[in-house]
Amino acid sequence: MTALVTDQPWAVRAACAAKEPDTLFVRGAEQKSVRQLCLTCPVRLQCLTEALSSEEPFGVWGGLTERERRALIKEYPGVSDWWEWLRDSQDEVAEELRSPEPPKVIGRLRARRRAEGQYDVKSLRSAS
Ligand code: SF4
Repeated sequence: MTALVTDQPWAVRAACAAKEPDTLFVRGAEQKSVRQLCLTCPVRLQCLTEALSSEEPFGVWGGLTERERRALIKEYPGVSDWWEWLRDSQDEVAEELRSPEPPKVIGRLRARRRAEGQYDVKSLRSAS
């Protein structure tokens, strides 16, 4: 999450490098301000890669909360290289994560589920 808690080379360029860890490992509404900081961070995707790869259970990493990261890991069980996926995938979620806008991971995955459900209902109806 921060240069204070990781020894990765990219961490020296982290936007949160000078922050106290206690200000970053927050919960609930306080996570919003950390997410905003992450959107300005030049190593956001590296940070998110580390959190997804290690299945980091706490805190905001790369602009995503622990809940959002769990949802991503569950949605993409076949991803073995998160850096490659975040950097190169044409998946709409990966594209959103690369953008400078606040990601809406949970909402997007829910919408995908709903769309898939509607599709299944239609295909079942047309098959009968
Ligand atoms: S993405 Fe956020 S948590 Fe990660 S290094 Fe940057 S500012 Fe810190």
